[in-house]
Amino acid sequence: MHTEADAMEAEVERFAGPAEAAGYRRLRHWLEQLYRAQMRRFIDTNFDSPLQLLTPDLARLAALGGFGRLDARIGRHLRDERLRRVFSFQSLYAGVPPARALAAYAVIAYMDTVAGVYFPRGGMHALPQAMADAAARAGADLRFGRDVVRLERSGNRVTAVVTADERIACDAVVLTPDLPVVHRLLGRAPRRPLRIRHAPSAVVLHAGTDRTWPELAHHTLSFGAAWHSTFDELTRTGELMSDPSLLITRPTATDPTLAPPGRHLHYVLAPCPNTDIGPDAAAWGELGPRYRDGVLRELERRGFDGIATAVEDETLVTPADWHGQGHAAGTPFSAAHTFAQTGPFRPRNLVRGTDNAVLAGCGTTPGVGVPTVLLSGKLAAARVTGRTAAAPAARRGHSALVTPEGTSS
Ligand SMILES: Cc1cc2nc3c(=O)[nH]c(=O)nc-3n(C[C@H](O)[C@H](O)[C@H](O)COP(=O)(O)OP(=O)(O)OC[C@H]3O[C@@H](n4cnc5c(N)ncnc54)[C@H](O)[C@@H]3O)c2cc1C
Repeated sequence: MHTEADAMEAEVERFAGPAEAAGYRRLRHWLEQLYRAQMRRFIDTNFDSPLQLLTPDLARLAALGGFGRLDARIGRHLRDERLRRVFSFQSLYAGVPPARALAAYAVIAYMDTVAGVYFPRGGMHALPQAMADAAARAGADLRFGRDVVRLERSGNRVTAVVTADERIACDAVVLTPDLPVVHRLLGRAPRRPLRIRHAPSAVVLHAGTDRTWPELAHHTLSFGAAWHSTFDELTRTGELMSDPSLLITRPTATDPTLAPPGRHLHYVLAPCPNTDIGPDAAAWGELGPRYRDGVLRELERRGFDGIATAVEDETLVTPADWHGQGHAAGTPFSAAHTFAQTGPFRPRNLVRGTDNAVLAGCGTTPGVGVPTVLLSGKLAAARVTGRTAAAPAARRGHSALVTPEGTSS
């Protein structure tokens, strides 16, 4: 994959011929239009009513085919099944198979393949570290490694956040854990007409190895031959993938200083069913190590010779771990982005019955993923300060939460 248009077009032509390369050009143009139609109005927005959707951008999105099905829409531009997969599998990030996802979710393929993927030198942790440093320079007092055990309330307001060893009085509180923890802390769950449908989960093997494989880029996707049945297993039948599609990441391809000389970092991510429909957290205790061995055997079979014996140090993360960290349905990917759980229909960032609590993070709007979660923080800040994100607040210590119509509570 190349993010630069000419380089990618040449690659598609080499791989699948000139007609597909022309299709790629058209697809790229469509992805750019789709992103422009969606970003401000549907993603970077605090929703207070579905009626807010009724804007000229909605008509623009409809005209672009955003409400059709993703795989069919990609298929209008590309005939080669292998290429179609490259530009449609991303809907799984949002927890929905390409055959059922709204075409609007091609916006993820836009971010992945057109806007591009960046890796901070020093590893992913360098990004939150830089943000924490900036916040500290601006006067924030950050306290790490402490569990919030409860919130103190007075009527409809949260008055303090309590950890094991301190009580921090507050004017307003922004809660970022997944929804089960948020609801436990608030002492109430909202009424919802339908049960939340959760995204599939993942097993991740982080491995320090004494060798690597030159064909591995920073990110490598190894698709199985199976496709629709794989999504069925992950989202309907709750079985482990019988012909797995795997993500292999090699951070040391970009930043070799992350490992000692002569050593390499890899992680293998295998999507798996969440614990609502698949094996439960207890079952993963025994299943996890067996599944790890099976994934490494499969990678050996796909040409990564000696991968199992190259592992010197490892951490295995399974749905049991996500469950243990308070994630609903044992998945770190939260509520799936079905139509009924997106935009104004996703759990809101305001909390009914509590006047000064706001949610941020992947369980609320706009949704799952690093860019969207960062936006959720911006949207939460706008609720607290009463300013739109475009006009940063000048006031301090103002604790009312404000909706876009300006009605503060
Ligand atoms: C394996 C994997 C790969 C991913 N790859 C990508 C990718 O390539 N691109 C992308 O955009 N997104 C990716 N994502 C998704 C992205 O990482 C998440 O959507 C995002 O990090 C979620 O952020 P969050 O703030 O909602 O939750 P988290 O990052 O889980 O943060 C919530 C925090 O709350 C803390 N917490 C919970 N309870 C308490 C408590 N009681 N007291 C105090 N603190 C508490 C937790 O410790 C945690 O630090 C990936 C996720 C995973 C798991």
